[in-house]
Amino acid sequence: MIAALAAAAAALAIAFIGAAAAYRGIARKRTRHVVRLADYRRSQAGKTAQKCSSCGKTAKLRHYALENGSVAGFCPACRVQAEKRGLLPL
Ligand SMILES: [Zn+2]
Repeated sequence: MIAALAAAAAALAIAFIGAAAAYRGIARKRTRHVVRLADYRRSQAGKTAQKCSSCGKTAKLRHYALENGSVAGFCPACRVQAEKRGLLPL
């Protein structure tokens, strides 16, 4: 009788340890969604280049307000034409 009780207690303890390990696994998975700001900034360094609205080249853009009220980003080459058109930089 006592041996059966001890076996049941041992089985319960093993099940509890297994559940705790599984929970820790879930918790570990959840923490993967948290991004360290310093790591994110490091990964984004030098990635500020975007596609020019006019020629499509990837460059660091300056954004202008168009006549119709929308916003367009222009590379240094297209910026000259944008300023000739009288567009206002944002
Ligand atoms: Zn351009």
